[in-house]
Amino acid sequence: MRRCFVHKGNIYLHSSQLFSIISEEFKKDLKDALLFSYRHLPMIAKDQRLAELLKYVSRKELLDFEYEEKSNVKGAINLANIDMFARSVHYPPCMKILHDKLSENSHLRHFGRLQYGLFIKGIGLSLEESSVFWKKKFSGKVNGEQFDKQYGYNIRHSYGKEGKRTDYTPWSCSKIISQLPGSGEYHGCPLKYFKDETLSDFLTKKYDISVRDLLPIMEKKREGAPQIACIKLWDATHKIDTKDNVGNHPNAYINSSLEAENMGGSKSIVK
Ligand code: SF4
Repeated sequence: MRRCFVHKGNIYLHSSQLFSIISEEFKKDLKDALLFSYRHLPMIAKDQRLAELLKYVSRKELLDFEYEEKSNVKGAINLANIDMFARSVHYPPCMKILHDKLSENSHLRHFGRLQYGLFIKGIGLSLEESSVFWKKKFSGKVNGEQFDKQYGYNIRHSYGKEGKRTDYTPWSCSKIISQLPGSGEYHGCPLKYFKDETLSDFLTKKYDISVRDLLPIMEKKREGAPQIACIKLWDATHKIDTKDNVGNHPNAYINSSLEAENMGGSKSIVK
């Protein structure tokens, strides 16, 4: 925009322009530092002062992580094996519960469909595969024609094929944790909204974890730190530490888990 004066390789700015440049740089540095901190969350959380600060800054939406698609997930999960993956340790609790309830009830309410629909889009299901998946799951309640009428638009919308044509990305943990599911709804983060007893039953049954491994998860849940509880669950079910943004994004959870399995590190429990 020719707002600066260039002379002998130097750029001279008016002081009024400095604020936006410096604040952008600061924001970038802060985000990098926060990402680094989140990788070491369990350690940092022990220090009350840092934990409070981190909690405050993350509320400012600086930590609303975007999911980065990774090649190890692409193509690994498809219509034929998604049910098996949903039963395995690869699935984070927030998505496992949605898959279970969808299979059980042949239905999920709007926000459940949104949360889970974007997750399966993130793990690589195409629009066509996604439509077949939902139609099949809903077939216990509605026939194909009814399904297309009632739900087809929303699926195409989430893939950016309708309305504003926004290509929506899968929800991050902070977005999921901020949801408040009502009765008959299963979206949100179970490590936050499940009652203690329900959660320990769920984790024992679905992840086959021992009482010893359950303790630190429940402790973090009770402290109101679902993201750290999620990291503890991942640690309890994997032998190799390939964690990358686990506790920040459910797609990062499955991604890191598949990476661990490729390296021979996840227990891969399929029930
Ligand atoms: Fe899902 Fe994130 Fe909650 Fe883990 S912390 S269960 S990935 S929302």
